[in-house]
Amino acid sequence: MPTSTSLTDPAGPAGTTVTSVVSPIDGEIIGEVARMDAAAVDTAYTTAHKALQEWRKVPAERRGRVLLRVAGLLEERTEEFARAETRNTGKLLKDTRREAGRAAACFAYYGGLADKVTGDTYDVPGPFHTYTRREPYGIAVGVIPWNVPYVFAAKKIAPALAFGNVSLLKPAEETPLTALMLADVLAEAGLPDGMAQIVTGGADTGKALVGDPRADLIVFTGADSTGRVIARAAAEHLTPVAMELGGKSPQIVFADADLDAALASVLLGAFSATGQMCIAGSRLLVQREVYDAFVRRLTDAVSALRVGDPRHDRTQVGPQVTPGQRDKTLEMIRVGQGEGATLAADAATPDDDALAAGFYVPPTLFTDVGPEMRIMREEIFGPVLAVMPFTTEEEAVELAHATDFGLAAGVWTKDLGRAHRLAARLRAGTIWLNTYRMLADSVPFGGVDRSGYGREGGPDAVRLYTWTKSVWTSTEPGPPPGYEF
Ligand code: NAD
Repeated sequence: MPTSTSLTDPAGPAGTTVTSVVSPIDGEIIGEVARMDAAAVDTAYTTAHKALQEWRKVPAERRGRVLLRVAGLLEERTEEFARAETRNTGKLLKDTRREAGRAAACFAYYGGLADKVTGDTYDVPGPFHTYTRREPYGIAVGVIPWNVPYVFAAKKIAPALAFGNVSLLKPAEETPLTALMLADVLAEAGLPDGMAQIVTGGADTGKALVGDPRADLIVFTGADSTGRVIARAAAEHLTPVAMELGGKSPQIVFADADLDAALASVLLGAFSATGQMCIAGSRLLVQREVYDAFVRRLTDAVSALRVGDPRHDRTQVGPQVTPGQRDKTLEMIRVGQGEGATLAADAATPDDDALAAGFYVPPTLFTDVGPEMRIMREEIFGPVLAVMPFTTEEEAVELAHATDFGLAAGVWTKDLGRAHRLAARLRAGTIWLNTYRMLADSVPFGGVDRSGYGREGGPDAVRLYTWTKSVWTSTEPGPPPGYEF
């Protein structure tokens, strides 16, 4: 765990105020972090600009090697990062260990990809050799939310650096600790100063960051309401942006599915990370033939979920990351009841005195839900699952689309034709067939509609972090026929 003093000056002169970082497990203050003001953000840009001139001269293969060194160091420190992430986010240690592995793998992936970026050649009319180059944008700004801070920091910094950009990364004010630890590892791996700076603070710091004309690219992950504000700020300077926003993803279970596997997946999709995932499968659609039996089993499973200290092996659901999010979830549970849905199950929150100041909410299942209800349309970002029956495939698609979001969807069926039919029809950035919540750096990820635009991951990351330059070379002396002057 980093000390408070090592956190206060991550990028040049820190802002005048600090903010306390609170553990959602027990409400304990676990760090103090600078809330960087406009002057500190300005200094970060000046430093980034200088660093960019140097990073541009580093061959892609060397950049890749630095990232591979980072990956090696992160792998050695998986447990340390996982524990810090759990303390700061309240997520299960089992999950943060996996995430710590993913962050290291992310640096390895982009380290390997750094020198494999290629352009194309074009067979054009006339005496020309014409080709394209992929050029880095320059200063790539990443702004991330509080739910998956370590992995998201890696996903923003690694591709930016790999393809020749420098990175300014703003973690959420509530969960900055692992991003700051990552900065230390980057330095240890030999990344020169200023190439990847962590800009700490809240919305005001973020505004100064995304409103600066020196931002060459903004890649945002967070709420759609914030995304709109950032897109407007970016428009002022025509800064390109990518938006990874929220979701209200359906999990669709057909009667012919492997229902045991589907049940486990539904629980994972809705309640892991305490429901605080953009990809949470928070809407469940179950075919009528199996609806009653499936929901009975689900009700028992939700009632029995073990909520508690995320560091304990037996715990299945930890606290929410922030008190504000806890209050929002509790409010949405009241909204669901007010709308006439049946609260079919809720698990007990911990009665342990040591956790009394933590941000726990009861994992909750709603039945008798209608597609127009707020709990079926709005992102809650807590452990709340709403379930509805459907009869036909057509109806399942219609219900799945009864939301403004389009981030992900899961389909459970043994009918291969139907699975791929739905994969083609469902309007969402990621479709999982007989699985859920699987992600990898080699696979593009992003949403449509209110879930955003732009893609991270795989070959799309190259397109996101570089732009195309076309180069024309004359292979004959003098102008081509028809172009004489
Ligand atoms: P948020 O939008 O409130 O904050 C995200 C980040 O934006 C934070 O770092 C915050 O300080 C910063 N910010 C806030 N106002 C800003 C402004 N005006 N200018 C610049 N930066 C500003 O999101 P949150 O509450 O931290 O996270 C929850 C949201 O994130 C949910 O909606 C969730 O679905 C979404 N999310 C999306 C993905 C995805 O990949 N699609 C992944 C995880 C979370």
